[in-house]
Amino acid sequence: MILITAFIFFAIFVFIKKTESQKPDLEFALSGDTSKAIGAESQLAGIVSDAKSGLRSLSVLLIKDGTETVVFEKKFSKTKKVYTYNFNVSIKPKALQIKDGKALLKAMAIDYSWRNSGNGNLTQIEKEIVIDTKPPRIEILSGAHNIIQGGAGLVIYKLSEPCKISGIKAGNNFFPGYLSEPKDKNIFFAFIGLNYNQPTNTSITAKAVDYAGNEAKTGFYKYLKKALFKRDVINITDGFLEQKMPEFASVVNLRTKEASLIEQFLEVNRDIRKANFKQIQDICSKTEHKKLWEGTFLRFPQSASRAGFADGRTYKYKGKDIDNQVHLGIDLASTAYAKIPAANSGKVVFTEFLGIYGNTVIIDHGFGLFSLYAHLNRIDVEKGADVKKGDIIGLTGMTGMAGGDHLHFSMLVHNVFVNPREWFDPSWIKNNITSKIEHVGNE
Ligand SMILES: [Zn+2]
Repeated sequence: MILITAFIFFAIFVFIKKTESQKPDLEFALSGDTSKAIGAESQLAGIVSDAKSGLRSLSVLLIKDGTETVVFEKKFSKTKKVYTYNFNVSIKPKALQIKDGKALLKAMAIDYSWRNSGNGNLTQIEKEIVIDTKPPRIEILSGAHNIIQGGAGLVIYKLSEPCKISGIKAGNNFFPGYLSEPKDKNIFFAFIGLNYNQPTNTSITAKAVDYAGNEAKTGFYKYLKKALFKRDVINITDGFLEQKMPEFASVVNLRTKEASLIEQFLEVNRDIRKANFKQIQDICSKTEHKKLWEGTFLRFPQSASRAGFADGRTYKYKGKDIDNQVHLGIDLASTAYAKIPAANSGKVVFTEFLGIYGNTVIIDHGFGLFSLYAHLNRIDVEKGADVKKGDIIGLTGMTGMAGGDHLHFSMLVHNVFVNPREWFDPSWIKNNITSKIEHVGNE
């Protein structure tokens, strides 16, 4: 009697267990920023799990105009149970003969429960999506893309549809395009810069990726010109080292702080310079999506040019070559503690001590264009402030690795240092920037 009762209880227990009603957990998403579009080839990733009875099957379907197409199917073993399964599915609508347009993406998972007459618990999820296998079209609207090494330019293009990424690729550098006003015209401005050391056969193309992940690339007419840069010798004296290094080492934590002054100098000139460069590039990777500047950029008034853009510098110590670096800005000297005007209107995005640059101000002029002011004795603006062309932002000095009072002035397009002289020149601005913008505005 006891045995029979125990058996009945056991059977009920097993039956309850086997007929559990917990549905499989199922989650999936299309890769990319959006989960709503399938391109010529899209990836779907997901996870399905069933902790109690284990997984029986998983299927992914596309439903377009009432027709169901199986995209992916997986049956799981009954004996070697699978409780969790990660899946990655590549979807190519053309290969499946599914046309562009609105569709449903459906995933179904079933477990090994005895529920539903032994058919198991079913989880199904449907998502409304759009199939779009056509790449965007890029129409280049601007002409005359003449860029010199270390120089800048503007490319204006129109997109046939909204895109998650678009811009100009110059070698390994990518310059995002920003939507111009009025926005519904789908016209983009991409300011670009050719690095001083990029060759004149650097590939420059426009690129756009739509929300379904379809990518388009377009070449356009361009002329890249070779530039000649000066070479300079800088003699590092013990006097300079004694004047600069202890002060520098008190602000920047040097690995070589116990070593000789010349070793400290080399760490600063190589490693700190590289870290500062990286920090500037990071700061200049975010920008206002509108043009904040107007007309030519102001050259620091009543100043003499000391060093030029992309001058190659050989550093000598006691007659020996000890280092080589490139000067990615221009040095302008006036009287000591001279007032520095903002070169153009924009937003102040950096006001700190920055290694070799000393006290530094960086202004974002919008659309990826930046100006940088270094070695300041005093900074008179705050981060986040809007400045107008000519507003005083601080006083010149010799903070950082400066041997004398001067302004180091740099300009960047996105993360590329460009020659500021182009931006001081009204005819260059007219021919390369403003006339292009006006031309498009009149279309
Ligand atoms: Zn300089």
